[in-house]
Parts: sequence; C-alpha cells; structure tokens
Amino acid sequence: MSLSLYRKYRPLVFGDIAGQAHIKRTLENEIIRNELVHAYLFSGPRAVGKTTTARVFARAINCVNREEASSEPCNACEICTGMLGNHTLDLIEIDAASHTGVDNVRENIIAAARVANMLLRYKVFIIDEVHMLSTSAFNALLKLLEEPPASVVFILATTEIQKVPATIISRCQRFDFRKIPADEMKERLKGIVKKEGKALEEEVYDDVIRYSQGCQRDAESLLGQLLCLHEKKIDVALASLVLPHSNRSLILELLEQMVAKDTKQALASVDAMIEDGVDFEIVSDDVIEYLRYILRIQAGAGDTLSETAKTRAQLEELSREISAEQTIAMIEHFIQAQRDMRSFTLIHLPFEIAVIQSSLR
Ligand SMILES: [Zn+2]
Repeated sequence: MSLSLYRKYRPLVFGDIAGQAHIKRTLENEIIRNELVHAYLFSGPRAVGKTTTARVFARAINCVNREEASSEPCNACEICTGMLGNHTLDLIEIDAASHTGVDNVRENIIAAARVANMLLRYKVFIIDEVHMLSTSAFNALLKLLEEPPASVVFILATTEIQKVPATIISRCQRFDFRKIPADEMKERLKGIVKKEGKALEEEVYDDVIRYSQGCQRDAESLLGQLLCLHEKKIDVALASLVLPHSNRSLILELLEQMVAKDTKQALASVDAMIEDGVDFEIVSDDVIEYLRYILRIQAGAGDTLSETAKTRAQLEELSREISAEQTIAMIEHFIQAQRDMRSFTLIHLPFEIAVIQSSLR
C-alpha cells in the first residue's frame, strides 16, 4: 500500500515535483527553446526525484501535444501513455547496479542506440546508478557520449558522483539534486492527504518529514502507511503505531546518559543503535542538533526545533545540568566524529569515542 500510494501520486509533470526548483527551471527552458544536449547527469541523494524528473523530461521532449510555450508533457497522447505504460522501445531504463558489465552496455545501450527511433522524436536512455558500471563499461559508454547518435538523449543518474569518471562527467550537463526542504515536502504531503480526504495533526507531518531526512519518496511511503489507518484524523498517538521506532528517543536517552556521566549505559545505547543499523552520520547530526538547542537555551536565546513539547522539555531539563562550555565541548566531539567517519571503515568507532569523551568530561 505504501508503495502504491507513492506510485499513485508519482509526479507526472514538472509542476508536481517537490523541490529542485533550479533544476526544473533549466530543464524546462531547454525544452521550450529546444536546446537539448545529448547527455544529462543527475547526481544527488537517493529518493529526491532524479528518476521522476528524468521520466517527465523524457515525455516532455517527445510529447506530440506539448504546446510550444509549455514544458509539460500532456500525459495523454499515444507517446506519453506509451512511456507511462512502459511499452515503448524508445525509452530504455537501465539499472546499472544490476548491469555493471561491458557486455550489458554493448547489448542494451550501444546496440539500441544504433537502431533508429521507432516512434519517438528522441530515443531516451535513463541509466540509473551509473557509478556502478565497470571500467570497461564506462569506456564503452564514453565512446557513445563522444559521438552520440542523432536524436538520442542520455540521462545518467547517480547517488555517488565521485565514482563517475571525470571523462563521463565532462560530456554531460550536470545537475546536482538536493534534499527536499521541509516546507516544500510538507506542502506536497498536505496535497496528497487532502486528495485522500484525510487529516493529519501538524506534529505528525513534522515527524514524517524528520524521519524521511529530505527524501521525498521515503516521506510519501511513510505517509502511505499512515493513510492506511482507518481513522479520518490521524494524531500523534495514532501515528506512533506506524512510524518507525524513533531513533530520536534513543538519541535523547543517549544524551541523558552522557550528561549523567554514565559511560557504560551510553555505550550500551550505541550498541543498540549499531543493532538497529542506524546511519551514524545522521545520528551525529541529530545529536548535534539537540546539543545546539540545549546550547541556545543556555545562552538565553530561544529557538525553534521541530520536536514535540515533551522532547523540548527534556532538552530544557538537560540544559540545566551541564554548563554551556560542556555543551560546546560535546558538540566539538561529535563534529570531530563526523569528520573522522569519512576516513574510517568502522564508522561507529569515531562516534563511540565522542560518546566516551562526552561522558568522561
Ligand atoms: Zn503527450
């Protein structure tokens, strides 16, 4: 159900894609002015709209009903419906993660690119997770990008731009997708909830947005699970039945243990997080965000934190138990941990060190 909600509301036009305003504007201008390039590279975190944008773009440049001054596909003509239904030979989507070898590039891309377009103006190749290609596959792809067949458009997407060879990058127009800002995410979620004839308490939206960390697809997937609840109005208590077990509550416990200098318990919390398979870079962000809130209270400056009143009260209590200097030292430990994580294979180790330093102060 959660996935089907995402499919049901998958954006079909640029206007419905959340965030990425700078990217949409440039692409839409290229469509209207008919100034397309042969290869595009969409980089950025997962679940922020790269593939969705690629598909809308593929339809827009081929749609037979598109008005000259518009950049939006009609989604109704034979071409659009063929692409939406995935039964056109001229839109080829390849998941490079499962087709890493050079043979696949030869068979699926080079061979297909040489065959004349069947129906569409532009044959479009969407190659997802392109960084997964092998070196020889990249070389084969590069040859194609150096001498692209007429009326072929490549859209390469990647979550790990640093693994894409510079020779490939230099052949593409590059767009860096960003995480979706909370307010834009909320606007789109509210639109979906309204269409479903339901209501969500404001705090539930905040929870969904926080859990999904700027990833629109994750937010819509969580929302889908909430909308499966039979109640028309979904409040925090009801939502807690569905939303993932909050790492934030673990983080709050961890903060309390560090403030109480209970190193043993604090490390037990870290073990629980490892077991949960948390992303320690994100957890460090959360710890730092909470500490920053504490610090601001200690400095006499209020701040907003999209957290429940209960959490804010707990943080305010902690702010009275340590000094501002101690809070700053803790923040510094976790900033250092984040830096170290990038060069450690065992990424929870720098986090553990920061926890110990913060508890032993
Ligand atoms: Zn159309």
